[in-house]
Amino acid sequence: MLHQIEELFKRQERAWPQLARGIEGLGRARTRRVRIDWFDVFIRHIPHRVGSTTAPVDQESVAKRPCFLCVGNLPAEEEGVQFDANFTIYCNPFPIVDRHLTIAHREHDSQRIASRFGSMLDLAAALPGYFVIYNGPECGASAPDHMHFQAGSRRLFPIERDTAGLTGVTVPNYARNVFLFRGRDRSALIHRIDGAIELLAKTTGKRAEPLLNIAVFHESGQWVTYLFPRGKHRPEVFYTGELTVSPASIDLCGIFVVPLASDFERITGDEIGAIFRDVTLSDGQFQKIAAKLERER
Ligand SMILES: [Zn+2]
Repeated sequence: MLHQIEELFKRQERAWPQLARGIEGLGRARTRRVRIDWFDVFIRHIPHRVGSTTAPVDQESVAKRPCFLCVGNLPAEEEGVQFDANFTIYCNPFPIVDRHLTIAHREHDSQRIASRFGSMLDLAAALPGYFVIYNGPECGASAPDHMHFQAGSRRLFPIERDTAGLTGVTVPNYARNVFLFRGRDRSALIHRIDGAIELLAKTTGKRAEPLLNIAVFHESGQWVTYLFPRGKHRPEVFYTGELTVSPASIDLCGIFVVPLASDFERITGDEIGAIFRDVTLSDGQFQKIAAKLERER
């Protein structure tokens, strides 16, 4: 699979000017590391992300635009690599990380993780050196109406190092609340994630899907899954106009995307910590669910 993806990037970078511009833009992106408490976050200034950061994702706006993940609407130059019967892998023309991929379902069907987490695990296993992410329809997915994952190189993937020695289901004092699941058994892991999502739905009263972001990678036969339960989509500072940021999976994994140069210069580690606390689930609800998950382990 990796070889096919390398070849896809080579062909697409030549044939598809928008992708070439995106890769060039990522090459110019400045990255600044800040320490927050005991961990680092990498702030990345990527001007070409401004559209995604500010994209209207309400039902009305989404219904009005042609779906950019449907095969019939793709640019003529864009091609993909078939992953399985359901999913096709494409190069993401607005990359945040090296080898940024979009993995789209062949049908125009709502963004929903239920019954599809297994595909996420299969993608992670087929893509060594990559992470795979899922952004919930109300938590950063810019196509909430079309099922898709993203993936990218783990050359920079701060959360992996931050959590390397941890065995519990939570990451203490990490600003963002996150559940951590490790496992070698695919069906057992699917069962645990389904259980956690069900608990989240019950606790927050959010149906059909609770607000969440998920990241997975596969290393030495083991899957590592991060489930970020969310309290809200966009942070307060976005609505007040203080900062043009809207964190999704990649930001919560420690690569914090900032499209505007002025924000990049001035944003502090404390502000990022506050944004993480603002958008992930409140401590009270999080601890209640964590206690249940810990007992079921
Ligand atoms: Zn579509």
